[in-house]
Amino acid sequence: QYEHIRKPEWLKIKLNTNQSYTGLKKLMRDNRLNTVCEEARCPNIHECWSERKTATFMILGDTCTRGCRFCAVKTGLPNELDWGEPERVADSVQIMGLKHVVVTAVARDDLNDGGAAVFAETVRAIRRKNPGCTIEILPSDMKGDYESLHTLMDSKPDIFNHNIETVRRLTKKVRAIATYDRSLQLLQRVKEIAPDIPTKSSIMVGLGEEKEEILQAMDDLLAHDVNILTIGQYLQPTKAHLNVVRYYHPDEFQELKEIALQKGFTHCEAGPLVRSSYHADEQVTQAAAQ
Ligand code: SF4
Ligand code: SF4
Repeated sequence: QYEHIRKPEWLKIKLNTNQSYTGLKKLMRDNRLNTVCEEARCPNIHECWSERKTATFMILGDTCTRGCRFCAVKTGLPNELDWGEPERVADSVQIMGLKHVVVTAVARDDLNDGGAAVFAETVRAIRRKNPGCTIEILPSDMKGDYESLHTLMDSKPDIFNHNIETVRRLTKKVRAIATYDRSLQLLQRVKEIAPDIPTKSSIMVGLGEEKEEILQAMDDLLAHDVNILTIGQYLQPTKAHLNVVRYYHPDEFQELKEIALQKGFTHCEAGPLVRSSYHADEQVTQAAAQ
């Protein structure tokens, strides 16, 4: 019943097609690499790739074993594990001159370790070739397998990010297989393994949540020692995905950000175009200063 709501002005941004990252897109194709920046047609790509020198790589293939109802990544039988991928990601980080890189992956529920070994090797390869680049990892919940989590944490990322995506009540409708509590527990476990590594999570708004539920999600994350929060507008990738129930005004995002900081997050990005990896470079600098 919400199909008629229109995109507000602040979301009508034009993508400049004649920009310096055209060569970088070719680099991705040549190296058979996937970035969330391109896959999700992220509106921040010019700012991130060209100005802020940050990007989000999606490893372990382009096909996910899950099918979350907000996500544009294709679902199906995944590709063979590619052990050459870590070095190719590391080389691309070097060529792009990145200062901060986010490494995420499709869910690989078909693998015993959920892909943790290749994931960890990617972090190490990036570190070896790019000692000055900070690394944030954004894994799936790995079905709550803590051995895989240890494998990942052994690679010593600078930030651990795992998204709860939405409020508790809507989790079942929005996410596949993942649960609200399992994600919270995963974030808590990271703090137990590595208390010095900042943890981070993200929620999308506009899926039908109430304000009180957002505030509760903030409290839940804080109760599990999460340090950094990002809040962005949900945008429907295709008609087959969940409808947008509401577009939040930039002022509402500002208010949510202020509440989050008052409640105790060390850093919060909130805005219509904020994505999990938006301005992540600032978050790592700030976390390091604390
Ligand atoms: Fe890529 Fe994230 Fe920047 Fe978007 S906000 S361009 S996904 S790094
Ligand atoms: Fe998309 Fe991640 Fe869900 Fe897979 S697990 S469908 S990549 S959000």
